[in-house]
Amino acid sequence: MAERHAVVIGGGISGLSAAYHLRQLAKASNLPLRITVVEREKWWGGKIRTVREGGFVVEGGPDAFVTVKPWALELCRELGLEHRLLPTNPKARRVFILWRNRLRLLPHGFLTFSPDPKGLLMTDLLSLQGKLRVMWGILLPQRQWGDDVSIGAFLRYYMGAEMSERIIAPLIAGVYGGSIDNLSARMTLPTLWHLAHQYRNLAWASLLRQGVRRWLRPLGIGASDRNPDRPHNSFFLTLQGGLGELVETLLAHLKDATLLSGRTVVRVEVDAVDGQRYALTLDDGERVFADALVFALPAADAAQLLRSLDNALASELAGIPHNHAITVSFAFDRSQVRHPLNGSGFLVAPEDQRERLLLACTWTSSKFPPRAPQGKAMLRAFVNRWTPMSEREIAEAVLEELRPLLGIVGEPERVWVFRWASSMPQYVVGHAQRVRRIRERLSRWASLALAGNYLTGIGIPDCIRSGREAAQKVWQSLIRQR
Ligand SMILES: Cc1cc2nc3c(=O)[nH]c(=O)nc-3n(C[C@H](O)[C@H](O)[C@H](O)COP(=O)(O)OP(=O)(O)OC[C@H]3O[C@@H](n4cnc5c(N)ncnc54)[C@H](O)[C@@H]3O)c2cc1C
Repeated sequence: MAERHAVVIGGGISGLSAAYHLRQLAKASNLPLRITVVEREKWWGGKIRTVREGGFVVEGGPDAFVTVKPWALELCRELGLEHRLLPTNPKARRVFILWRNRLRLLPHGFLTFSPDPKGLLMTDLLSLQGKLRVMWGILLPQRQWGDDVSIGAFLRYYMGAEMSERIIAPLIAGVYGGSIDNLSARMTLPTLWHLAHQYRNLAWASLLRQGVRRWLRPLGIGASDRNPDRPHNSFFLTLQGGLGELVETLLAHLKDATLLSGRTVVRVEVDAVDGQRYALTLDDGERVFADALVFALPAADAAQLLRSLDNALASELAGIPHNHAITVSFAFDRSQVRHPLNGSGFLVAPEDQRERLLLACTWTSSKFPPRAPQGKAMLRAFVNRWTPMSEREIAEAVLEELRPLLGIVGEPERVWVFRWASSMPQYVVGHAQRVRRIRERLSRWASLALAGNYLTGIGIPDCIRSGREAAQKVWQSLIRQR
């Protein structure tokens, strides 16, 4: 077979995953495939941005991935990175919520949908009425929700307003950078959406799941997920050198590919001569021809390039709203922070967000101790609105918000600010229908695939999965072209 050429546009985790899987597919079938990856920035990894400085490992974007979605962990294993995995510190798994200017402990088990009933009864995040309303949830009849509804409407029905607004809303904002009243329950909380349709109500579903786990554990089934010594049993994992290590390892596996960084694809069209291939124009005027294309770009960038190929597809992508994000990491001497930092950090309840820039703060040196040298504390604040302030002003404003909460004295030894414009796709109500329309348009383009965080999963595991699926799709078309 004549050598084929696949081009991946975008060198973030979705694009690198697509390129890596294409290479594996070609290797496994011993067919000649040339792979090119084009990345606009001089560095690789997109939103994954690890800086190693003065003994600190600083993450500008994501700092960990969840293990309940297996694709990131699987890729780490495949790349031989298992021994480099770093779980969250088991002694610092508590999470706090900032509500009415005080940090309050989040009842245990919320991340795994198995809330501890005692913690729920004791929490000072809910009034007695709020707690009774949560318990009342067990008596609720099954409800049909139609095609989609906001998380706010969905969860207020099952858990009441207090629980939804003080506990669930900050958790959702911490992951999606969005509001429970805009985001789609169906696309953002697919497991709960499914359970709500399967069981009488969510309280029943939670009790049944916890009950089943409790029965199975003495039989040894599912017991492995109780062993805290095994890194992959942590809800979150990262790598010892930061998530940048995943990017570096993928690049090392792509040595035989053409890796063009600091180059932007400015135009994509169907090659007028051949009619089958794509002709890409780079920012310096160079033309690159491809038999198959993976767009592993943020939705707006993909929309811009797709406009000349498929206007309807481009419009769908351009219509996906995005929020901004800013992270500010501070390094202090441990003695400058009076708070015990006895957890992984805190999230800010929406009521308390109004007067603040702060959306959340990770106590990085507690959550992942090797991230900072001995005797130092590293904190990472998360801001989810855009501001015309300079990086220095942002850092100062965020620090003033943190001082009274964590008892910070003096000035930080180091500060790192990362701004991510339009970086958090919002799966708003109706997103599922949009995804359906996008898939329908895409089915007309056999040798073209999309990968990224804006369709069915925003986190790193989903990006890796999307890259793999994109690789599989274009690989099939390359085989058919033979
Ligand atoms: C602050 C922040 C914190 C996060 N925290 C977490 C977390 O802890 N855990 C988690 O799982 N997820 C987290 N996420 C989400 C996750 O990081 C992203 O969804 C994921 O990294 C996106 O990867 P991607 O490859 O799809 O896109 P990107 O990383 O955006 O990569 C796309 C690449 O395409 C390039 N590009 C754009 N246009 C062109 C062009 N025309 N030509 C060539 N190249 C182009 C861009 O330069 C970019 O590098 C976080 C996101 C942010 C912003």
